[in-house]
Amino acid sequence: MSRRQVGDVSGKRDYYEVLGLSKDATDTEVKRAFRSLARQHHPDKNPDDTDSEKRFKEVQEAYAVLSDPDERRKYDMFGHEQPGGSPFGPGGFQGINISIDDLFGGGFESIFSQLFSGTRGTRRNRGQDLLVHHEVPFQAAMAGLEDEIEIDVLKVCAKCDGTGSESPDGVRECPTCDGRGRLQRIERAGPFTKQVVSDCPTCRGEGRIVQDPCSGCRGHGRASQAKQIRFMVPAGISSGTRLRMRGHGEAPKGNRGNSGDLYIQIEVKSHPWFERDGPDLLMALPLGYVDLVLGTEIEIPHIDGKSLSIKVPAGSKPGETLTIADRGLPGARGRRGRGSVTVLLKLDMPGRVPRGLRKSLEGMRDQIGTDMDSLQDRIRDEAIGRRRG
Ligand SMILES: [Zn+2]
Ligand SMILES: [Zn+2]
Repeated sequence: MSRRQVGDVSGKRDYYEVLGLSKDATDTEVKRAFRSLARQHHPDKNPDDTDSEKRFKEVQEAYAVLSDPDERRKYDMFGHEQPGGSPFGPGGFQGINISIDDLFGGGFESIFSQLFSGTRGTRRNRGQDLLVHHEVPFQAAMAGLEDEIEIDVLKVCAKCDGTGSESPDGVRECPTCDGRGRLQRIERAGPFTKQVVSDCPTCRGEGRIVQDPCSGCRGHGRASQAKQIRFMVPAGISSGTRLRMRGHGEAPKGNRGNSGDLYIQIEVKSHPWFERDGPDLLMALPLGYVDLVLGTEIEIPHIDGKSLSIKVPAGSKPGETLTIADRGLPGARGRRGRGSVTVLLKLDMPGRVPRGLRKSLEGMRDQIGTDMDSLQDRIRDEAIGRRRG
């Protein structure tokens, strides 16, 4: 089974698709695509055209995210389903009133650069969230599973305890930003003035300067280390479910604040014969003509440890289904009860008939084979039944 793309339940188009770009587009290509599409769909050029208005906003939102390195990285990882909700806040993207002059002159970058600054202050003190994919056997959906993974994750460097420096006094506060890591300035864009927040260029947003970098982490204060993580896969789980491991993401910069979270996205491996619809299971049972006509009882091993007995009544037809209640999977999230198993009956036609069997079949034809005299009536009856549905 190929690994499933992270599903998109938001109903939103992919940002790269909106801008007509590939995932590895450069910043210049992102900007060029935005400028061209924004001009094309600008409301001044398309008065009273709601389609263009929607496209204009969509293009803006895609550009806002893809032009911001942090937001783009997170989008590449999580898609439209960001763990903390929309990066634009609870209301989602609201649209920006860009004048068409800004699109020609290039005054639009600063309008976008401050979009995320409001939320970033709190986020800065937190390490990045991580997403990993993990496959579990089908049986885990039945019984749950205690599982373990090993990941490489940025943790606080043990050698320098996150200071990034070999010696206690080798690190000092950045004089340019007074340790805040960010600079604020007032900028004019058209008739408006606005506050623009950007990373401090002296310390690259770290807020401090290391004079004698630690050899364990090269002064970053964090180093990639292997980490074992044990977790419970709950019974009833389906593919695409994300388990959140609070605090198991990346350590924050500078050992200030909390680690991010780790999300483990579970992919449930397929079963050799069952298809799954939530807690319900579906299988096909190929039987010979005689078994369908006379009926039979079949026992097969089942995922709950007890054998599954399927009673096929006499006179069954291919395409009919039998439902066995309470032998499916448990409901997700502790919901009570179990789903059902539905068995689709199929006629298994032999490819080649051995000579001995051929004789018995010919004997059978004499007794229960097609009666040529009433054949026309039966063809007509079949058509009537079929058309009636
Ligand atoms: Zn600084
Ligand atoms: Zn270190």
